[in-house]
Amino acid sequence: MPGSWGRADYADGVTATIPTSGSAIGIALLTLGDRWTLLILQRAFVLRTRRFGDWRAQLGLSESTLAARLRDLVAAELMERVPYDDNGRTREEYLLTPRALELWRLLLAIWGWEQVSVPGAEDAPVLMHDVCGQATLPVLGCGVCDTAPVTARDTTAERGAEAEFAKISVPRLHRRAKESASAADALSYYPETMEILGDRWSTAILAAAFLGVRRFNGFKAELGIAQSILSDRLRRFVAAGVLHAPSSEGEYRLTSKGMDFFPVFAILVDWAQRWYASESGRELTIRHVQCGSPLAPVLLCSKCGEELVRTAVHFELADASANRV
Ligand SMILES: [Zn+2]
Ligand SMILES: [Zn+2]
Repeated sequence: MPGSWGRADYADGVTATIPTSGSAIGIALLTLGDRWTLLILQRAFVLRTRRFGDWRAQLGLSESTLAARLRDLVAAELMERVPYDDNGRTREEYLLTPRALELWRLLLAIWGWEQVSVPGAEDAPVLMHDVCGQATLPVLGCGVCDTAPVTARDTTAERGAEAEFAKISVPRLHRRAKESASAADALSYYPETMEILGDRWSTAILAAAFLGVRRFNGFKAELGIAQSILSDRLRRFVAAGVLHAPSSEGEYRLTSKGMDFFPVFAILVDWAQRWYASESGRELTIRHVQCGSPLAPVLLCSKCGEELVRTAVHFELADASANRV
C-alpha cells in the first residue's frame, strides 16, 4: 500500500512529494535525507535558531529554498509555527516538536561519525558531557542489556511483513541540489557526510547496504531507482570510501568507514518506527545478538560511560561560546 502522499511545491522548480503515511522508514528517509533540512535542524538544536531570517543569515540559502524546507518540516510534524509579538506585529517562528527534539541523538551520531571517519574533523566543535565535564564521543550501546559498544556486526536485521520500506518513489527528486551547502563555518557538516546523508537516494542506498543488499540489480530492485542515478551514487560512495569498489562478483560491500555509520542508521530506524509507525507494525527489527532483544539504541559517554542526554551535553565552538544541543 503506497499510503497517502502530501505534495509540497518547491519554489526552485523541484516538486517534492513527502508521504504522510505508509512506510515509517521511507518517510524518515524522505524527510531527513536532504542537506538543507539537516542543516536547518542542526542550527535549531545547536544555536536555538527558530526564525526565518536567522536561518537565512546562518546558512546563506535562498528564501524560496528555506521556505520550502520549513514547509516540509511542518508537514512532517518536525516543526510547528508559533506566533510571537515583534514590536506589535505578529510574526511566526518555528519550534521543534517533541518528535524532532529526539533527533538530537541522530545529529550527535552524525557528528561522532565525522570525528572518527573524516580527516580534519578535529577542528569541529567539541562535544562536552556536563555530567563528567569531559570532551566526549558518543558510543552506541544497547539500552536493553546495557552493553557498549554495539557495532553493525553485533546485530542482525530482520524484515517485517511490510518489507518494502526502501521502495520509495521519488521520481522528481533525483536531481542533486544546485545550491551546495556552505561548509565554511565550523558547525556545518563535512562534504563527505552530505555525500551520504544529504540526498534521499544516497540515504536509501546506504540503508539497503546495511540490510545486506550487495549487487547493482539488488539495489535497483529494492529501491526502484533509475540505473543512471544508482550508478552515480554507488560511484560516489566508492570515492568517499564508504563502499569498496565492486568485487569480481559485482558486489558492493561496506568498508569499515561505511560500517562505522551504523549508529546513525540504527538511531534513524528506531526513531522512524516510533514516530511514524504504521498499523502493520515494525518493518525492520535490528536485533542485538548478545541479548537477543531488539536493539534499543542509546548513546553513551566515551569517558564516563553514562548515557548522554540532550540537556547534559553541549558543543564548545571555536570562539569558546558554549551552545547547548
Ligand atoms: Zn542488548
Ligand atoms: Zn561523561
